Amino acid sequence: MPVLSYGGAIVPWNASWTGEDRYEVRPCRWAKGKRAMCSPHNPGVGKPVFAKPHFVRQRRSIMEMRCTVCGDETPAGDRWWFKLGEFNEGWFMTAESPVHRCCAELALKHCPHLRGRAGDLERFPGGASVLFSIIAGAAVERDFGVAVTAHQPAIGHLKLAWPASHFRVKR
Ligand SMILES: [Zn+2]
Repeated sequence: MPVLSYGGAIVPWNASWTGEDRYEVRPCRWAKGKRAMCSPHNPGVGKPVFAKPHFVRQRRSIMEMRCTVCGDETPAGDRWWFKLGEFNEGWFMTAESPVHRCCAELALKHCPHLRGRAGDLERFPGGASVLFSIIAGAAVERDFGVAVTAHQPAIGHLKLAWPASHFRVKR
C-alpha cells in the first residue's frame, strides 16, 4: 500500500484521522469476535491524529503483523522495530507491530519521535504474546462518547508482550 502523507509529512497507517472520529462498541474480527471499540475506516479524511492509533487498524496490525507505516503484512524475514514500549509487571509490551526495513528507514527520516533512534533499529523478536487491553468507565465515555460499563467492558488496543527478562531495551 502507498504510504499516506499530509502536508508533506508521512502518516503511519495506524494513525487515526479526524474523519474517523466516531466510536461504537461492536464485535471485532481483530479482537477474536469480542466486543471492541470501533471507528469507521476513512484514512486520508480530515487531518491525521498521530498520537491516537485507529482502534481497528491497530488491532489488525497486531493480529496480522502489518507494518504500522504502510499497512502491508510483514514477512517473517523483514520485521523490524525501534524497541519502543514499556515495562509492566514483569513484561515488556508494545502497542506497535513491526515495520518493514524500508519503512523503518522512511520513518527515521520523517518522524520526529524517532529522531536519534537509528541505533535502536533491530529485528523484531519472535515469541510475543498478544494482550487485549480492556476499557470501561467514565474516562471512556468522556473520550469517546460511548458508555462502556465494567459489567460489559470493551477491548481497546492490543499489545505484543514478552517476559521482561527475555531482552534488554533502553528505558
Ligand atoms: Zn511497510
